[in-house]
Amino acid sequence: MKKILISLFLLPLAVLGQSNLHEPIDRKASAIETKVIEWRRDFHQYPELGNKEFRTAKIVADHLRALGMEVTENVAVTGVVGVLQGGKTGPMVALRADMDALPVSERNNLTFRSLNTSTYNGQETGVMHACGHDSHVAILMGVAEVLAGMKDQLEGSVKFVFQPAEEGIYEPGVTTFGAKQMVEEGVMSNVDAIFGLHIWAQIEAGKIGYRSGPFMAAVDNLDVTISGTQAHGASPWSGVDPIVTSAQAILGLQTILSRTVNITENPAVVTIGAVHGGIRHNIIPEKVEMIGTIRTFGDEQQALVHRRITDIITKIAESAGAKADVKIGKLYPSTVNPPELTNQMLPSLTAAAGPDNVIAMDPVTGAEDFSFFQREKPGFFIFLGGMKKGGDPLTTPSHHTPDFVIDESGFVLGVRAMSYFVVDYMEMKK
Ligand SMILES: [Zn+2]
Ligand SMILES: [Zn+2]
Repeated sequence: MKKILISLFLLPLAVLGQSNLHEPIDRKASAIETKVIEWRRDFHQYPELGNKEFRTAKIVADHLRALGMEVTENVAVTGVVGVLQGGKTGPMVALRADMDALPVSERNNLTFRSLNTSTYNGQETGVMHACGHDSHVAILMGVAEVLAGMKDQLEGSVKFVFQPAEEGIYEPGVTTFGAKQMVEEGVMSNVDAIFGLHIWAQIEAGKIGYRSGPFMAAVDNLDVTISGTQAHGASPWSGVDPIVTSAQAILGLQTILSRTVNITENPAVVTIGAVHGGIRHNIIPEKVEMIGTIRTFGDEQQALVHRRITDIITKIAESAGAKADVKIGKLYPSTVNPPELTNQMLPSLTAAAGPDNVIAMDPVTGAEDFSFFQREKPGFFIFLGGMKKGGDPLTTPSHHTPDFVIDESGFVLGVRAMSYFVVDYMEMKK
């Protein structure tokens, strides 16, 4: 008995289901921390809009090639995919980083603040990594370097997926998202599981946020036209007023969340963002147009909310003698972390960050096109803290704003966590 206990004790650091490669990963990750930060600052200084990430993609492809990987460029326009073959056979684990920046003019006074401008939907604009995707690219380049340095010991292969256009392309007649297109081009076909992270400005550096099940919302666009009959504003009885009808419709939509959705299961949001109708004090216009956004968590809830929106608007219009045209454009599905994979990978997160630094989060009503990868294969998505220690999440500038900043001290944790995912997943599948 004693003998068994001693030999158990002598097993490599090993927590059950965890690889004994954590220690060399930690060493290699610390050694390249400065490099990762430098890469990020370079990407930050030269940000590129979705599907225009030419410079970024070139740097990534050169890096992966220098590490000895098989590299495919121009995947889904500007995407880069590198495959690292491990020394032993095993699963193919994919890791994803999105590369695109946003049409935002940076207001920060950083030495590496954005120098780029571009045209967005015909308008001149500043370009800024205002969502932190610069850090995702740099962190994944770091992971590539760490894992390439121990490839003989890897029991499987790693696919590095550098994705363009996460924020989506919305041009007249073209709506597309990088992840969706990568999936359509077969990026996920030989992948067993995929992992991704998002830097998060409202979580302290050194911490990681996650959620099992629906994590981030599905996002869909709502476009409504309510058509009545134009009339003199002094004699409304001679027409059908689309303005009053749209007001009733907007209030009707409020009952979806208060009376239809089971809010104890998952939240949902229906927001009307613009209402356009009319031109003059005394003219009741012929039509009113409204646009909005819909956020839901899960296919069933999404279908329910969509059905209620259409019913409420069309039937309120009908009761007024007006006509409603309701169009719902599906954008990203909900980002859902499968509970089984989440439970399996949670020990990797606690090993990387320490149990006190792993936070179970509430659902987030923002959206992520990582969800398209998760529809193909099991995928786990986490938030990496990017707020300075002791910062207030309420006053720290949020993503997509000109004042957005990231504390870089958490990057090394990102490199370690993503690397742990790979080796622990391989260990689990042995
Ligand atoms: Zn974003
Ligand atoms: Zn983002």
